[in-house]
Amino acid sequence: MRGVGLDVIASRIRDASDVFLFTHEFADGDALGSMVALTLYLQAMGKRVHAFVPGKIQSVYQFLATDELLNTMSAAQATVHISVAKVTCISVDAADIDRLGEWKPLFLSGVERLVIDHHDTNAGFGEVFAVDGSASSCCEILFDLFNVINPHLIDARIASALYTGLVADTGSFQYANTKALSLMHGAQLIELGASPDEISRSIYESKPYGSLRLMAASVVASRLMYGGQVVVSYVTRNMLADSGALDEDTEGITDELRRIADTKAVVLFKEASDGSIKVSLRGKYGFDVKRIATAFGGGGHLLAAGCTITSELSEAEERILAELDRYLGPSRI
Ligand code: AMP
Ligand code: MN
Ligand code: MN
Repeated sequence: MRGVGLDVIASRIRDASDVFLFTHEFADGDALGSMVALTLYLQAMGKRVHAFVPGKIQSVYQFLATDELLNTMSAAQATVHISVAKVTCISVDAADIDRLGEWKPLFLSGVERLVIDHHDTNAGFGEVFAVDGSASSCCEILFDLFNVINPHLIDARIASALYTGLVADTGSFQYANTKALSLMHGAQLIELGASPDEISRSIYESKPYGSLRLMAASVVASRLMYGGQVVVSYVTRNMLADSGALDEDTEGITDELRRIADTKAVVLFKEASDGSIKVSLRGKYGFDVKRIATAFGGGGHLLAAGCTITSELSEAEERILAELDRYLGPSRI
């Protein structure tokens, strides 16, 4: 753990009465699981809590009651509230402050700013931060934190939200970040009421039809490069329109592409609605993709990282490939 211990975070939370929660844009299962679990837990502690998720929330996570629990306060209300009340701001699962998207200024207005995260690349942008790069997920850190504060407040809904983050970030306990402790935590969360089959069905078997069509289009558009060591693919605005998918429906495409035998890396280029290119990178066999993402101001983990490049798609691709050349070149064929 870098920064402070969970006991320090726990005491700051105990002292707070108003809390605003923040996470990264394109929020995934760990980000949303963390937001929902913290919202419910802080409510159980008797705190006033509001959660701010940038952009749209993926519909697959509605089973966590994201509609009722998250983004319940408007930006205007939040700005007024934070100017009159002492609000403690907490960021979860966000590797750097820019990932808070449109809510970054609100986070900065808090009287106190806490950061809880599991990304190695997190430099600790709050004044108090706890970053544990060895944790599979932010939800795992939160489970420890809740046990420090008061384990009796962890009910079945909170356990389900935490389990969701664990499953999402470990790829159902399959990736290299799955530690013995992750499985023990998973077991404890099941004992506390999380339902593994319901959660898996909700995450993996409740996708909008358009997102599957988009995945198929992206597999068709993919190319093998560097002698089959890298699979590159795309999600363009046209592909989104043709498949009837939304921007938030791209999760899972990298998982599909990483199934290919012998590939060391997956690179997915997504055209965002603002014209920038979001690059998702996945590594296999220990191939470090974090170094590629950080070369463009992004971050993440050894085997799962990302960055945003402001340029045309073709130029973004050329820049990423030039970086890959350093490790896998000279031939891109
Ligand atoms: P994604 O490909 O969006 O699923 O992201 C993979 C991993 O990289 C996640 O752990 C993200 O938190 C991290 N990541 C993605 N984009 C960025 C970025 N622009 N800056 C820092 N970390 C990122
Ligand atoms: Mn995340
Ligand atoms: Mn995470």
